[in-house]
Amino acid sequence: MSNYIKILGCGNSMGVPAAGNIWGQCNPKEPKNIRKRASILIKKDNKNIVIDTGADFRAQTLEYNINHIDAVIYSHYHGDHCHGIDDLRPFFRESKKAIPIYSDLDTIENLSERFPYCFKESLDGFYKAIVEPNIWTNKHFGYEQNIQGISITPFIQDHLSCKSIGVRVGDIAYSTDFASLDEFSLNCLKGINTWIADGAGYWDDEIFVHCTIKQLIKYNEIIGAKRVIVTDLSTRMDYKKLTNELPEGFEPAYDGLIINL
Ligand SMILES: [Zn+2]
Repeated sequence: MSNYIKILGCGNSMGVPAAGNIWGQCNPKEPKNIRKRASILIKKDNKNIVIDTGADFRAQTLEYNINHIDAVIYSHYHGDHCHGIDDLRPFFRESKKAIPIYSDLDTIENLSERFPYCFKESLDGFYKAIVEPNIWTNKHFGYEQNIQGISITPFIQDHLSCKSIGVRVGDIAYSTDFASLDEFSLNCLKGINTWIADGAGYWDDEIFVHCTIKQLIKYNEIIGAKRVIVTDLSTRMDYKKLTNELPEGFEPAYDGLIINL
């Protein structure tokens, strides 16, 4: 059985094309420019863990034939990472048990306020709780957690408007939606081979909410990943143009990209 991480979506908050068939600077003829909202699948020993369930989650499960979900890690509570939470319901119906979700306190509280019907029973049990929340605190961040038999190390990232969670699985790490990393989190990333990282700030000089490519390059001088896969790509980031612009060892993500664990 092959174990891998698959990029289910490498798009930024609006996806590419954005609603209204807006492609921006992306060539509509390039299939790798079609990007769903950011998410990855971690698949190991037939266990499926997804990071984030954005608005494209249902479509992602159909496209990639994901027929069970064993756990979800929510990186943070922004809409493009959680608005597909309702589509966990069919998986709950099949498995008949609440799906464990993992995140920090802020994210779990925020999700339970916005989607209370996913967290608790209603109508005398007609609607069941479809998720089972698990809160990560400082005693978890930076330390290996056993999630469904998969060893995952979560770490905190600064996304300016809130914190977000990155994860390391073996020598691969995923850092969606972040502006900066502190020394503790950079230490968690040292020694990885592959870093899937938010570069939605593109070549901007200022960092605001999303990391820039210049800053990713600086971080990777510390981390030392041989392969950096830039994700959270917007309509201004054409696949071919970005491929040509990025330095050696860096490449743009695309939906469906598989990295073996
Ligand atoms: Zn975000």
